[in-house]
Amino acid sequence: MKNGSQRFSGETVMRFLVGLIGLLFLGLGIGFMTFPDSFAVGFGVQPMTVQGLNAIRGDFGGIFIGMGFFTLLGAVTGRRHWLVVPALFLMLVIIGRAISLGVDGFSAAGTQSLKAEAVMLAVFLILFIFTRKTVKNGKDLSLSDIFNFNVLIVVVCVAIILTALIGFQKQIGMAMVNRMATRIMTANAVDALPEGLHAVIIGSGAPLADPRRVGFSTAVIAGKNMYVVDIGPGSERKLELMKIKPEAVKAVLLTHFHSDHIGDLGELMLKRWAGGSMKSPLDVYGPDGVETVVKGFNHAYSLDTQYRILHHGPNVAPPSGAGGVARTFQFPAGKKEAVIIEADGLKVTAFEVDHRPVKPAVGYRFDYKGRSVVISGDTVPCPNLVQQSNGADLLIHEALQPAVAGILEAIQRKTNRPKTANIMRDMVSYHTSAEDAAKMAEQAGVQQLLMSHILPPLPVADLKAAFMGDAEKYFRGKITIVEDGMCFSLPAGNKKIIRKSFF
Ligand SMILES: [Zn+2]
Ligand SMILES: [Zn+2]
Repeated sequence: MKNGSQRFSGETVMRFLVGLIGLLFLGLGIGFMTFPDSFAVGFGVQPMTVQGLNAIRGDFGGIFIGMGFFTLLGAVTGRRHWLVVPALFLMLVIIGRAISLGVDGFSAAGTQSLKAEAVMLAVFLILFIFTRKTVKNGKDLSLSDIFNFNVLIVVVCVAIILTALIGFQKQIGMAMVNRMATRIMTANAVDALPEGLHAVIIGSGAPLADPRRVGFSTAVIAGKNMYVVDIGPGSERKLELMKIKPEAVKAVLLTHFHSDHIGDLGELMLKRWAGGSMKSPLDVYGPDGVETVVKGFNHAYSLDTQYRILHHGPNVAPPSGAGGVARTFQFPAGKKEAVIIEADGLKVTAFEVDHRPVKPAVGYRFDYKGRSVVISGDTVPCPNLVQQSNGADLLIHEALQPAVAGILEAIQRKTNRPKTANIMRDMVSYHTSAEDAAKMAEQAGVQQLLMSHILPPLPVADLKAAFMGDAEKYFRGKITIVEDGMCFSLPAGNKKIIRKSFF
């Protein structure tokens, strides 16, 4: 009798907890079906097209409602076999998430979800121990036993919740906007970084359109100062989506003036000025030619600048802070490098690379509190880059896979597009292959190699192995083909490199 009552109370508590988990799953499923956009954003997913919305409503919504249904069946009936379905799903979800943490990198939200799922799985397993396997007559319940009054109540409740949600969509939507906007507008990802040097991949793409990568851009944060190396098309918006405020950018450093490296300079100058009410223009460093680029963007945005001063007033949009100012540097005679910034413990060295016929073209090395990051810019394999990268912690090198580019060139010739095919052929001639980037990293003795400026685009992450080719044979350190949003932290005072994601 005593044992029976103990089992009963324990089982009741566990069934109650499982019931709550079932309601959570059901709520999420209903949420995905009714508000696919906002629920997906909460999970770090953003639908790119109507097909994406369709998948979120269908796949996410359907699977969560299914899991909720079986979890509630387990809770209501006390029959553990119903929990096998959600428990199996949870186990697979945990495995997938653990793989992602290892392969794609650390994310605080991902780790939180992993913990929550592990707790849910533990609750399921405890209920397994508490519950009896069979009903009185010694048999498991059949489906017809289940579709009784309890299930009817659950179905009616779900129908009421669904109707209420759809009926109050507008009010709920406004409340969600309020909550999300507060969170987004007050967030500042940079403040949370520890003391040290950090490289944040804003855009890892190149001139060809890539659904996963915007134009080339990397932020380097030294202590509290943030510099942005190149600002390719789409990268300014990516920066904001990563919760980095444009007004936090201290200066832009351009490697050369191909459009995939400068396309968003106007947007960054404008957003930084208008968003931060800046009183002085943005410093834009670069080799000879940077003055032409800055002057051009300033001119193109001059009408917009006037509109904003008129509309918001000079206090919000101070006329003195609009646009940018070129900070042109040259290398001293006989030298292929020059220190261009020395401030707050940070030293930035610009050095010559070889991107002929594009000349000048440079890379940058950042040294801060014993840690170092080198960004190659666009270049063929280049002895000066090896020299300047000597002993660096992180080398961010452009990379191209000639074998994949060759396939694309052949397709263009076959489909009678010889001019595009020629551009593809020429492209290979002034970039570095993944294998050569690895050789440069090995010669320079860097700790880790990041491949960015990915050419040709890799529409799915599964193509990374093909892109890498034989690169791993030539470099003893770790190689990562980067993606937009990745952050590599180099804390001051040790040799660690910590990878995380800003999305
Ligand atoms: Zn480029
Ligand atoms: Zn280029």
